[in-house]
Amino acid sequence: MRLSTWLDENHRLPRLDLELLLCARLKLTRAQVIAHRELQIDQAALAGLRRDVERLNNAEPLAYILGSREFYGITLSVNPAVLIPRPETELLVDLALKVITPGMRVLDLATGSGAVAIAIAANCESIELHASDLSLDALNVARHNAHQAGVELTFLESDLFASLNGRYDLVLSNPPYVAENDPHLPALRYEPLLALVSGSDGMTALTRIIQTAPDYLVHNGVLMLEHGFDQAMRVQTLMRESFHDIQTHPDLGAHDRVTTGRRK
Ligand code: GLN
Repeated sequence: MRLSTWLDENHRLPRLDLELLLCARLKLTRAQVIAHRELQIDQAALAGLRRDVERLNNAEPLAYILGSREFYGITLSVNPAVLIPRPETELLVDLALKVITPGMRVLDLATGSGAVAIAIAANCESIELHASDLSLDALNVARHNAHQAGVELTFLESDLFASLNGRYDLVLSNPPYVAENDPHLPALRYEPLLALVSGSDGMTALTRIIQTAPDYLVHNGVLMLEHGFDQAMRVQTLMRESFHDIQTHPDLGAHDRVTTGRRK
């Protein structure tokens, strides 16, 4: 079957998703898929594509079907042990790169696929970078991703700060922050609840981090937290006790997404 015929047959699915499946199954670049619609798909590839389309029809995320997702220009492996990196989380990396200077000790708490830590590692020299997670399965994905990206950092198993030592100049995190009864959760059913949900209001992990972080930050050390679009005021209020210079930053969709502050 020709690429063009297959694309027409599946026209109800997003064109970009279909093209990315073709790239993966036929080992072609996107430019080739776009320029050579006349190419033939062999039987083995066609059978694979049929299974892929079935998964897409079941609303499984393309990133899990392909087993990878781009984040900050880096290709990361993902599987259902980790949240799929979101484009809005690149804001956390942008903000971190603005404050990091050589010699700093930096921690990415609840690193998941390692996306944030690996993007920082790829863009910073001479820092001591740690990335922690509660989930060993997630840490395995993150370690693999760091290796693939050719960056070096230290991975630590820890329930938030529980098993960590010493003080950091910067602690950043994209923790779970979705409320237990959030109406969007059914759409996220393929992703790990551990990485998404945190209590009835989504604030449990954020609250624990804000209350414990002062013990793990140097004086004037920076805390940067990703949170839900409607959680900025609650995060700011919690931070006021031990932090100053508190600011909330909007993501590309103009939603309040990351709040930062310095330890008093
Ligand atoms: N931004 C993600 C979502 O809404 C949630 C990520 C998280 O809980 N850390 O799908």
